[in-house]
Amino acid sequence: MSSLPSSVDVAIIGAGAAGLGAANALKNSGLSTILLEARDRVGGRAYTIRAAPDVVFDVGCGWLHSADKNSFVAIAEQLNFEVDKALPPWRERAYGKAFPQDLRDEYMRALDAFYERAYEAAQKGEDAPADRYLEPGNRWNPMIDAISTYINGSELDRVSILDMEAYEDTNINWRVRRGYGALIAAYGASCPLALNCAVTRIDHSGKRVRIETSQGMLEADKVIVTVPTNLIADEAIRFFPALPEKVDAARRLPLGLADKVTLALAEPEALPKEGSLRGATMRTEMGTYHLRPFGQPCIEGFFGGRFAKALEDAGDGAIAAAAIDEIVSFLGSDFRRKLKPLTESRWAHDPFARGSYSHALPGHADKRAVLAAPVDDRLFFAGEATSPNFFSTAHGARDSGERAADEVLASQISR
Ligand SMILES: Cc1cc2nc3c(=O)[nH]c(=O)nc-3n(C[C@H](O)[C@H](O)[C@H](O)COP(=O)(O)OP(=O)(O)OC[C@H]3O[C@@H](n4cnc5c(N)ncnc54)[C@H](O)[C@@H]3O)c2cc1C
Repeated sequence: MSSLPSSVDVAIIGAGAAGLGAANALKNSGLSTILLEARDRVGGRAYTIRAAPDVVFDVGCGWLHSADKNSFVAIAEQLNFEVDKALPPWRERAYGKAFPQDLRDEYMRALDAFYERAYEAAQKGEDAPADRYLEPGNRWNPMIDAISTYINGSELDRVSILDMEAYEDTNINWRVRRGYGALIAAYGASCPLALNCAVTRIDHSGKRVRIETSQGMLEADKVIVTVPTNLIADEAIRFFPALPEKVDAARRLPLGLADKVTLALAEPEALPKEGSLRGATMRTEMGTYHLRPFGQPCIEGFFGGRFAKALEDAGDGAIAAAAIDEIVSFLGSDFRRKLKPLTESRWAHDPFARGSYSHALPGHADKRAVLAAPVDDRLFFAGEATSPNFFSTAHGARDSGERAADEVLASQISR
């Protein structure tokens, strides 16, 4: 780790997947670079921890989505991280009696019909809130909305139909055995970096860009900004002169909320490895549970949207408590003694994330391109929210960082 230099060619703000993508792409460019990272670690919303001696837990991203088009797959191979290609249990599996096959079939038909209506509507090119394409009165609507809180971090009423359709889902999702966060940290291991270095102001009024940080000032010719949209929207970093178009775009691409919990599971053999547990509860306020991921003695819970926010606001431990109550309601009271909270995320309360992943508000699918556009060939923007087709993902973030690095290099040549 290097301390803060007074001057670099390119400063990259944020050492998440996007910042690391940019830094890696500039490695052999001859330009001096530094990643300025507010946290005491790299990875941002990618973060693997050992929640217990026998439980590896990704607090943020866990799935290599659209794995056949995911640039982290090749990186994992290069860095000797084993990729688990078993497909997720979300669609086909549901353990126990909580969600029997006949109801699941009915629900899947309703879900697929909703996606079909949304797809047809998006083909006409007019934007609308996605909840408009729910069938009025359909009994599965609350659960379809719950799925949106997992995918978009938000209920459908705040999701743009055009943005939803722009996402490129190949339905192939893989995992990294040692953790996606661990892979992304390893990917960034050799990049020049200043940790505990929060950027507060970017002054681009002069010949060089002046960057104010919690560790003092530095100057750069070019800056790549990769912080989450909610920090730009809240003006946690101020630009001088101000960039109202960027702030507006960031506000229209808010981070929704998804939170995860891992619970230690005693007597794990009683439950299947890689199982899925959900209840046909007809509520949007529901968790979804992954039983024994990688065969580990734990259950991972996933919560999204307003429900996740309410649980976070209720205080530490509320997500684990809700998860245990719900699992007990499905599997019986014996499970209360078998389950112990290990770790839960609080992404909305994380000062350097302020949410989980971005979605476009209805009418604003175009704002991803607005946010991504360079300013004066000196300020460049990356981060998952700027990806045209893989927004909300770690590989989309990484690819956007590489794109911003290419823009920096192109701007050098055209000077
Ligand atoms: C619960 C959860 C589950 C997810 N699941 C998946 C999944 O399965 N698959 C998937 O692909 N994606 C998933 N994601 C999304 C994925 O983690 C993100 O899209 C991706 O990691 C974002 O990378 P980024 O570089 O754009 O942003 P970040 O990772 O947020 O990086 C930005 C960096 O900027 C830093 N920063 C912020 N403010 C400042 C400042 N003022 N000065 C300096 N530095 C600053 C932050 O600390 C951070 O390190 C999930 C996210 C969450 C929260």
